Amino acid sequence: TGRVVVVGAGHAGGTFAALLCQAGFAGELVVFGDEPEPPYHRPPLSKEFLHGPLEKWLREPAFYPEQGVALRLGETVVGIDRAAGTVTSTTGRVWSYDHLVLATGAASRALPVPGADLDGVGMLRTLADARALRSRVLGAGSVAVVGGGYIGLEVAAVVRANGTPATIVEREERLLARVASPELSSVLSRYHAERGTAVMTGSVVRGFEGEAGRLRAVVVAGPGGDERRLRCDAAVVGVGAVPRDELARSVGLSCDNGIVVDGWARTDDARILAIGDVTSRPVRGVAGRMRLESIPSAVEQAKQAVASVLGGPAVESEVPWFWSDQFDLKLKIAGVLHGGFETVVRGDPGAGRFSLFHHRDTELVAVETANAPADFMAGRRLLAAGRPVDPGRLADPQVGLRDLVT
Ligand code: FAD
Repeated sequence: TGRVVVVGAGHAGGTFAALLCQAGFAGELVVFGDEPEPPYHRPPLSKEFLHGPLEKWLREPAFYPEQGVALRLGETVVGIDRAAGTVTSTTGRVWSYDHLVLATGAASRALPVPGADLDGVGMLRTLADARALRSRVLGAGSVAVVGGGYIGLEVAAVVRANGTPATIVEREERLLARVASPELSSVLSRYHAERGTAVMTGSVVRGFEGEAGRLRAVVVAGPGGDERRLRCDAAVVGVGAVPRDELARSVGLSCDNGIVVDGWARTDDARILAIGDVTSRPVRGVAGRMRLESIPSAVEQAKQAVASVLGGPAVESEVPWFWSDQFDLKLKIAGVLHGGFETVVRGDPGAGRFSLFHHRDTELVAVETANAPADFMAGRRLLAAGRPVDPGRLADPQVGLRDLVT
């Protein structure tokens, strides 16, 4: 009981509120969101932004009043007083809390180059961003995508599928350098290139140029330092996200690329929890902590926070996983790639249906699959079991994956 205040009405905050209600919480629940919309799904924003409705609500908007949740939209929390146990919002009103849940998410990283403020250049995090992107892309003769991460690749695929010329500019030597295996990067590079996208790796955007305030070109320095000017009238910058942990830092909560939490979503203040993209969290199969930006992680931490507020039981940690849609490829990834590993390929990457099993000796560390849901399920189960695998059997197409789960 008592009052629970949630800062951030995104996927983590919205899921937490819904789960707390479902668990029969009898106290008062106040959720602040600085966006005007109730909690919604972000994944469609980069996958379906050209067609159909963008507003995919997490729960029907009527859910919140029906459950007695005070959803305060368009209202930003600007201060916390830990000693008093209160927060202050932009209205100036002060709210006391028994538990405070920080679910402030992450913000798109800005590209600090000349011309980044031209009309036609944008980032993609919110519904408002996606609406702007739709109108920009629909009228565009060609589109530049800055950053070959998952969001950039998804946007580029939608643009190409719409028949619009697209260029991906990536600073690293390969696409998805931070998160995917070199094998997956090269398959995806080929896949996008074969569908007409110009994929430029090892290339740095120096700036954007416009006419009368409108974007006309992107200036790119290639691997040799040579500068090129590519005409485009829309550009999407997808160069990562930074945790919105400034409130937490301002009141001295421990932060390290995100708010530091444990497996119960607890910060170093007993009354303050933190969940979602803003946290640096323990991750199954990984030493120390890391910041994950994914729906499964946000949902798992929402469950942890509910358990903390209501007093247990503990939430069993999942193997981290993620998905992405690019053209007709349905990618599903489980586990975390770090350090050295070897790779076993199953299926046919050329045919767009394959699985990559990454292992260190007999330890399976991650699985990347495309259009292979059964392999993904089996891979996740193998990762969760944490038992040794025999790379020889893994590589043998005669051996079913299910037979590897001992
Ligand atoms: P958010 O959903 O960002 O919510 C945080 C909310 O808090 C925001 O509305 C913010 O405005 C608000 N806020 C911040 N500070 C304050 C404040 N002081 N006061 C009030 N409100 C505040 N994940 C996947 O697993 N699969 C995918 O395919 C996938 N695709 C994605 C595509 C896109 C385009 C994007 C942007 C993300 C995608 N993700 C995907 C990631 C996923 O959406 C995030 O991991 C998830 O939304 C994190 O939830 P969150 O609540 O932590 O943050």
